[in-house]
Amino acid sequence: MESMWTPELMEQLAALWAEGHSTAEIGRRLNISKNAVVGKAHRLNLTPRPSPLKRPPTRRVVSTTAPSCTWPLGHPGEAGFHFCGKRPVSGKPYCTEHAAMAYVAPKNQHNAA
Ligand SMILES: [Zn+2]
Repeated sequence: MESMWTPELMEQLAALWAEGHSTAEIGRRLNISKNAVVGKAHRLNLTPRPSPLKRPPTRRVVSTTAPSCTWPLGHPGEAGFHFCGKRPVSGKPYCTEHAAMAYVAPKNQHNAA
């Protein structure tokens, strides 16, 4: 009785199967026997009955907020402006290079006057 399986019928079978209906229920809806449903589902390699406990795969949340040097490079508002982003010195917001620049004693800064 393979001839009764039109593409449309197989599509309906797959759809009802995917929705988790019992083979008897699918057979009733498609007006075919339960055995025909089971046999065709097997031949179509339809997945085994969907588990009601189907859960989405757990995703690991990876933190992207690792500390990074916040020394500004360039000028705010201009193209190319960004923060340094290097690994900061422990306890400071800047990397080694920029911490040295940030915490330099005033007397050592260049005096333009
Ligand atoms: Zn830096």
